[in-house]
Amino acid sequence: MKSLILPVSIHSKIISNMERHLPEEACGLITGKGNLARHHFSITNGLHSPYRFQMDQILLGIYHSHPKGPENPSLTDLEEDYYPDVIKLIGSKSSIQWEIKAYLNINSVYLQIPLVIK
Ligand SMILES: [Zn+2]
Repeated sequence: MKSLILPVSIHSKIISNMERHLPEEACGLITGKGNLARHHFSITNGLHSPYRFQMDQILLGIYHSHPKGPENPSLTDLEEDYYPDVIKLIGSKSSIQWEIKAYLNINSVYLQIPLVIK
């Protein structure tokens, strides 16, 4: 059976977040490694309701860098794409600066999509 290990420190932060948002429902995201929680992100309940929640932010992208290129996703990126519906940002470094490009996995083919920096 799948389990989650929640360190006391994160457990406390979640409880605090729930208390702070009373009487509304609180919500957030937990990231970690394996089944061990490492970070907690409080997300605003967009409904501000005591009975329902709807996170007003969603996971939009996952980024990583290719310090020595290429600027596009690698075969490994495709093989290890555990979140195919999430936009991938890849930063590659030319001789002087970083450039970030955005990709979407469409049926196991990465399509570059517009990335607006503003
Ligand atoms: Zn990569």
